Amino acid sequence: MHPYLQQEIWKLIAYITGAAIAGLIVGMPLFFISVTLLLYIIFFLRNQHRLYNWITDQGNSDVPEASGLWGELFNEIYQLEKQTGSNRAKLTNILKRFQEAASALPDAMAILTKRNKIEWSNKAAHKLLGINHPQDEGQPISNLIRHPKFDKYLRKNDFGKTIIIPSPNNPEIMISLQVIPFGSSQKLIMCRDVSHVIKLEEMRSLFVANVSHELRSPITVLSGYLETLQNVKDINIIHKSLHTMHEQANRMERLVTDLLALSKLETQPTDTHSNDINVPAMLLELKDAAKFVGGNKNQKITLNQDEKLHLYGNRDELQSVFSNLINNAVRYTQENGTVEISWTKDNNHAVFSVTDNGQGIPPQHIPHLTERFYRVDIDRSRESGGTGLGLAIVKHTLERHDGKLIIQSKLGEGSTVRCEVPAERTLEMQPTRDLDNA
Ligand code: ADP
Repeated sequence: MHPYLQQEIWKLIAYITGAAIAGLIVGMPLFFISVTLLLYIIFFLRNQHRLYNWITDQGNSDVPEASGLWGELFNEIYQLEKQTGSNRAKLTNILKRFQEAASALPDAMAILTKRNKIEWSNKAAHKLLGINHPQDEGQPISNLIRHPKFDKYLRKNDFGKTIIIPSPNNPEIMISLQVIPFGSSQKLIMCRDVSHVIKLEEMRSLFVANVSHELRSPITVLSGYLETLQNVKDINIIHKSLHTMHEQANRMERLVTDLLALSKLETQPTDTHSNDINVPAMLLELKDAAKFVGGNKNQKITLNQDEKLHLYGNRDELQSVFSNLINNAVRYTQENGTVEISWTKDNNHAVFSVTDNGQGIPPQHIPHLTERFYRVDIDRSRESGGTGLGLAIVKHTLERHDGKLIIQSKLGEGSTVRCEVPAERTLEMQPTRDLDNA
């Protein structure tokens, strides 16, 4: 038994005994005992009343003062109240911090009640799900996310997987959404913007489709010739067929080489991009090689360059940029046309440019030319040995050298393709003997 209760009982026994003795002296023991008990009950009721007032005042008033059992009771309740208050403050603080953290998340979050009504949502839920907090509190979620896939997902009650749907707020944004059940039949909706992943996936499948398409035609030609050649005896036809087969094999080889070059650019680090590259010597060689690319087109190819201008970069990558652009100019320029190659420096850049007076490019195609497999005229590109990957490789390589590609063209008049690399990547060197003799 609690000592205070023991004390209280002894106190009561003492009161009754005292009253009985006093009552016996005056000959009215029962009266005295009854009055004592009545006073004791009144004292009890008064303290009960004070306790009630204090509790209903939610601890705003001071703790009632009392001694003995009642004093102890008031004190215990006061301590309990204090503890609850501090726990409540702690919980409120934790909840506030959680809400702040959840609000700052880039992923959308919403809490649903048992009946799939919105209880709470963070800021991102406004952008991705069109849910406004607190205005939409209590709204059924299906009023805001109106998509058959979501309805089915919610009805099925199987939330092991995520679903991908357009955002109710902006159909151009694709969102991945998952429902996570928690607590007593409540649900948490987690959702993120996956538009870029979907776009990448689309690009990847388009790329695979393009590669397959590009490879399929030479393979079809090759297998067609192999089949017919089995029964052909005429040596002229055999020679002609072998020539075409050789061309198709070369086409496949060029495609594979370009694909490997692209994949190398995407996967290899740029730590080999600070070698001193003698660009003038490289361009001299490429200018000579360009004459062979042109065959008997009899084009006038000129080179105007700053012979001291070297570049920090990667030899193979830079060579592929320059040769791709020079070869394009030669390939897309008619007989007796001109191709002007230039390598100079302005205040901020080293500038490589190739200007031709060839067929030119219609303006609507220019922004797309660096996309993989994009060609203005597929037949013309293939005829001249193109893979449709050249400018994509050029753009990628220039980016790896902090440079950029600018294409200007007028249909029927010709094109200028210009590469700008920051001046910090250049260095001045004395021309080599080869260049002096050139
Ligand atoms: P391709 O292997 O087809 O030449 P590129 O990526 O090098 O692929 O070029 C893409 C397209 O840009 C070409 O198919 C061609 O239509 C156009 N093009 C590039 N350079 C020139 C140029 N100098 N003159 C006209 N068209 C050009």
